Amino acid sequence: MASVTLRKVDKFYGGFQALRAVDLDIADGEFVVFVGPSGCGKSTLLRTIAGLEGSFSGSIAIGGKDVSRAAPSDRGVAMVFQSYALYPHMTVRQNMDFGMRVNKVDKAERDARIANAARILQLEPYLDRKPAALSGGQRQRVAIGRAIVREPQVFLFDEPLSNLDAKLRVQMRVELEALHRQLRATMIYVTHDQVEAMTMADKIVVLNEGRIEQIGKPLDLYHRPASQFVAGFIGSPAMNFFRAAHENGAARYGRFVVPLPAAEPVAEGEAITIGVRPEHVKATKATGGGPAAGTVEGGVAVKETLGDETILYVDIGADRWTVRVESETPIEAGDTVALSIQPRKLHVFDASGKALIQ
Ligand code: ATP
Repeated sequence: MASVTLRKVDKFYGGFQALRAVDLDIADGEFVVFVGPSGCGKSTLLRTIAGLEGSFSGSIAIGGKDVSRAAPSDRGVAMVFQSYALYPHMTVRQNMDFGMRVNKVDKAERDARIANAARILQLEPYLDRKPAALSGGQRQRVAIGRAIVREPQVFLFDEPLSNLDAKLRVQMRVELEALHRQLRATMIYVTHDQVEAMTMADKIVVLNEGRIEQIGKPLDLYHRPASQFVAGFIGSPAMNFFRAAHENGAARYGRFVVPLPAAEPVAEGEAITIGVRPEHVKATKATGGGPAAGTVEGGVAVKETLGDETILYVDIGADRWTVRVESETPIEAGDTVALSIQPRKLHVFDASGKALIQ
């Protein structure tokens, strides 16, 4: 197993820059997840590490060795794709065996590695079947098995669970987490599913237009996003954002007032945005006497009952708040509710999207 180090990696497709000055340190044995919206460069970054993207500038080291110009097969990586990419005419055993045979691993060693991977992935009953006779989850396990038998220094996963239905996705996610604990391998995993990112990652890398926006542990990104972009991307339902007034060193939204750090160079009157997560808003039925200090009032436009929780959409002037409440709430669509928040749960961003309070 090995560390992975990227320095100033730029990647162009013709005139289009897909990766911008990417610096990244992945420790030996770490599970790192790349997330970001479609087109932000997640797959390009993974494929560049794999050596599948041709020319780029900057450097990539795996296990302390510079592999920037090395062929994919010499980098010690194994990649698992969303499409599985299995050979349809080969059995499960032959699919796992193929790469090792090409690399001239001896027969006894190949058999031992296949037996081990089949045991870890519970594929023993299927070794003599062809991919067409397997479920999606089983096929994906074969693709992972093919990576395991190569004994790579680093596993690279490109949205490996996207083709599976919701239930199987969760099951495979848990299996992959267990696999990581068992192999203690360095794993890099691309997904646009932020639940996968939050649950699997030791470290999340959030990408935005080819640039690293923030790197951190899942809960650090959740509690202390450095920008509005990260705040809006991590967490589901997404964080609420509203324009606020900047007065006397505080952000003011209705009757919410949040003091800003004195050191922040935000000009008085400059547009700022407050952010609050749906789970950090408390909703109670309004009493009819107008909003109490520290609360704002609005009407419930929509109520969504999800079983384990209920989501309210509350209109406050032109703003629509998403509020997560207990499933058994007595609040109904059409009710007037008072919303309150603990000030320390509020996020504030300047006009460029930079977090002013973390
Ligand atoms: P998704 O979640 O949709 O897979 P992604 O974050 O993985 O997105 P990439 O596939 O890395 O995004 O693509 C990053 C950008 O580079 C996109 O704008 C894409 O159109 C562009 N791109 C990717 N491959 C090529 C290519 N071979 N030629 C030109 N542009 C490309």
